[in-house]
Amino acid sequence: MLLSLSLALAEPHDQMLTNAAGAPLHWATMPIRYTIDPTNTAGLAEAGVVAAIVEAAATWTSVEGAHAEYRFVGTERDAVGGYDDHNVVFFDDSWEVSPDLLAITSTWSTEDGEILDFDMAVNTADHAWALDGDAEVEDLQNTLTHEFGHALGFGHDPADIAATMFASAHPGELAKRDLTESDEAVAIFAYSVEFPETELDASESPSCSTTSRGPGWALFALVAPLLRRRRSELA
Ligand SMILES: [Zn+2]
Repeated sequence: MLLSLSLALAEPHDQMLTNAAGAPLHWATMPIRYTIDPTNTAGLAEAGVVAAIVEAAATWTSVEGAHAEYRFVGTERDAVGGYDDHNVVFFDDSWEVSPDLLAITSTWSTEDGEILDFDMAVNTADHAWALDGDAEVEDLQNTLTHEFGHALGFGHDPADIAATMFASAHPGELAKRDLTESDEAVAIFAYSVEFPETELDASESPSCSTTSRGPGWALFALVAPLLRRRRSELA
């Protein structure tokens, strides 16, 4: 019997996350302002944490032909997740979902898929972290480059294990710090149109934009995790 084998190559449009209404997730304004709560129990120096996270976000901003822009606006303390028009990256020491998950990005969108808010939680309850690619533990920048892809509305690349948007990572991995051609293709597909710059009022707090919506407005929450891949599974 002859089996026909079809390789599942991911097309950019197939790789967009969709909300419960089936609409692809996307931002409608740029830049995407975010804050960092560098407080952590992983023993990571806070300055190094900020540098690694800013670098992870900037990786997507620098894609030629894509107009997605992350903008770091400052640190904050005691950050918590939730829909609050406040995009924050923080460490979570009381992880309540699967311990295999390295990090989770939550997005909140309108029915038509416009993302209004994201939060990114790093699992410090179950995993050790490093900033320098220590072979024994998870690399923060590696993981968060992947998560910043989710925050742009990108799903997993099922085909390319080297892609930043591949669904799992292993200790010491650094490959996801750099985008592959397929990662870049998704960013270019989703954000090919240049955005007008949105400026904040001096009266507004950083990374917050007040959104008023009429009656019947629905909010869609989506959670996208990164799974830890065990070293033994590597070929
Ligand atoms: Zn993921």
